[in-house]
Amino acid sequence: MIRDEIETLPREELEQLQLERLQATLNRVYRNVAFYRRAFDEAGISPERITSLEDLKLLPFTDRETLRRSQPYGMFALPLREVVRLQTTSGTTGDPIVVGYSRNDVEHWTELMARSLAAAGVGKEDVVQIAFDYGLFTGALGFHYGAERIGATVIPSSRTPPEKQIEIMRNYRTTVLACTPSFALEIAEAIRGSTLSPAELSLRVGIFSAEPWPEEVRREIEEALRITAFDCYGLGEVMGPGVSVECEHKNGLHIFEDHFIAEVIDPRTGEVLPDGEVGELVLTTITKEAFPLIRYRTGDLTYLIREPCPCGRTTVRMGRVMERTDNMIVVRGVSLFPSQIRRVIASIEGVEPRIRLVVDESSGVPESLEVQVEVSEGVFTDDVGKLVRLEGRMKEMLEGELGIPVEVRLVEPRSLSRDVEIVRLRRRT
Ligand SMILES: [Zn+2]
Repeated sequence: MIRDEIETLPREELEQLQLERLQATLNRVYRNVAFYRRAFDEAGISPERITSLEDLKLLPFTDRETLRRSQPYGMFALPLREVVRLQTTSGTTGDPIVVGYSRNDVEHWTELMARSLAAAGVGKEDVVQIAFDYGLFTGALGFHYGAERIGATVIPSSRTPPEKQIEIMRNYRTTVLACTPSFALEIAEAIRGSTLSPAELSLRVGIFSAEPWPEEVRREIEEALRITAFDCYGLGEVMGPGVSVECEHKNGLHIFEDHFIAEVIDPRTGEVLPDGEVGELVLTTITKEAFPLIRYRTGDLTYLIREPCPCGRTTVRMGRVMERTDNMIVVRGVSLFPSQIRRVIASIEGVEPRIRLVVDESSGVPESLEVQVEVSEGVFTDDVGKLVRLEGRMKEMLEGELGIPVEVRLVEPRSLSRDVEIVRLRRRT
């Protein structure tokens, strides 16, 4: 397994490097981006005041709203003549945000994607099929440049239909597939529906990005395509894929800390949380030139892991992102996430069901939570007594786990349209 030397630096050296790069970045944004100059001035903090990584928490946050208000070029720290590429975020959570890259930014991104692919065991002998959409969105070109950098053979298959992808895979003996996990599932589905056996393919590794995908989906993709599947995290605002990646131990994603500083905060108070606690991931870029971000609130929920990894990398890891802060519910001062609730129900039902969460916020402070759970066909045809008992059991388990009052209501199969739906009953004004 290939590791970049910088990924195994002693912590002290790595943190010294981070501090130097942070200070240079702060000076640059203070000089060149009106938003940061104003924000730092308002907070009464000059870049010189930041003399340790600890001091980072003194700086104000930026978020998607900041970026949206500064569109298109308000957050650029370089003039356009020094920007060599524009890309945008996918726009899944609002209007797309335009992001610029200098020549060095593209170079760093390429290097990080090469390191991501290397962590997943991809090398120059591999044939890498890139089934991300080649467009303004960052997935395709990120993987493309990274794979070329390690000397692999790249097939830019883009987002052609699954049948076509499979044909390319078979004919050109693809060994690595890069795409979104949901598209990998579509490809797996198409293989199942064809006469082709996965044994006829040469695939061995999948590296997936741009969406949350639970462990069940990983297992399903791995079995259907007979590959080992890796998670690669990133986001368009910050760079694209290549912020962090799993190594062969798949025990969290190693953050490329020579380019990013990660913090996890309580999304309600903004306070930095200790390692291991789930909160919102905040990223600071420390090498980006055209579009640097200071304390950017990603909206993604995760936790940090600092225990050493058997792979030898010394970098901090983050848990796999399964949820966004938009999904957080606060009941009686307790922060809850739909994934927690689905996991509890899965421990009874065996599968994670579709749920609808109804939070009554009409009194200002939500006091209770109603959980509607979609049950399978078999359950609903059974006698009423059994249903009531099941509801009671779920209520008991959820209340035990969450520590707040919960009402559970079982609903008929196919009555919910999404895995998770949150309904907030608000006060009428
Ligand atoms: Zn590792």
